[in-house]
Amino acid sequence: MLSYRHAFHAGNHADVLKHLIEIELLNYLGQKDKPYWYIDTHAGAGAYSLTEGYATKNAEFETGIARLWQRDDLPEAVSNYVEVVKRMNPDGELKFYPGSPWCAADVMPESDKLRLFELHPSDAQILQENFAGSGRRVQIQQANGFDGIKAVLPPPPRRALVLIDPPYEDKRDYQNVETALKEGLKRFATGVYAVWYPCLQRVEMKEMLPALKKLPAKNWLRAELHVQAPSADGFGMHGSGMFILNAPWTLPQTLNEVLPYLVQHLGQDAKAKFVLETGGDL
Ligand code: SAM
Repeated sequence: MLSYRHAFHAGNHADVLKHLIEIELLNYLGQKDKPYWYIDTHAGAGAYSLTEGYATKNAEFETGIARLWQRDDLPEAVSNYVEVVKRMNPDGELKFYPGSPWCAADVMPESDKLRLFELHPSDAQILQENFAGSGRRVQIQQANGFDGIKAVLPPPPRRALVLIDPPYEDKRDYQNVETALKEGLKRFATGVYAVWYPCLQRVEMKEMLPALKKLPAKNWLRAELHVQAPSADGFGMHGSGMFILNAPWTLPQTLNEVLPYLVQHLGQDAKAKFVLETGGDL
């Protein structure tokens, strides 16, 4: 079942939270003068047009990146993220939005490598085209990312961010995330792992987080941005979250500054709020 196309959602509030934290984690890894890898199990198409095609259908970016794009009071971590989007739109009009691999390629040193998995044939093809000419820096496989990461862990430099960002249309994704993290930690205990998830009233969702908190990592961090109240019928995504294992010690403080700002500017009703929780040595 591969009906999900990320282009419909490009640049929405969930992408803002995910890509902002991704960039923050990569910048932290980049502070040390040592190589590191970026591994993306569900890479999507890499880049999206906001002026034609799927993204224009519901124009979800209008309540996401478009609300931040022109602001001049951005906290530093939000500004680092918006700068990536601005570099993709050098004429000053918001026409394109970077996917997670693009954000990574933008902020990582040229010498550091990206390993990307994408199962959907069309998105895998667009991803290839978006990174044509990147040489050996970017390797793309049209494959199941949950299985694919086994072959790339541990990465040769023994430093990496692994982003796990499935569509969750298939309910087995919740269990697949837990299994992938368990196996990942066995192979590469010191890796930084970031999982995106939707805030939904689903039993699988409620069970996933407690299980992830018990995994044998140095620490965990849960950050959620709820842009509106949950709908009365329990359907629909009222927010999203990032769950991080082996997070840098600086991340809670950064998010304490960023999340209230995002609630203020991306919130859609009076129930908008954030959640920030940590465990282990954080
Ligand atoms: N990470 C991307 C970003 O932030 O720009 C968005 C990814 S989107 C939420 C999820 C992607 O996973 C879709 O493009 C979908 O085709 C792909 N996909 C679904 N199941 C997969 C699997 N088992 N392995 C790899 N990719 C998969």
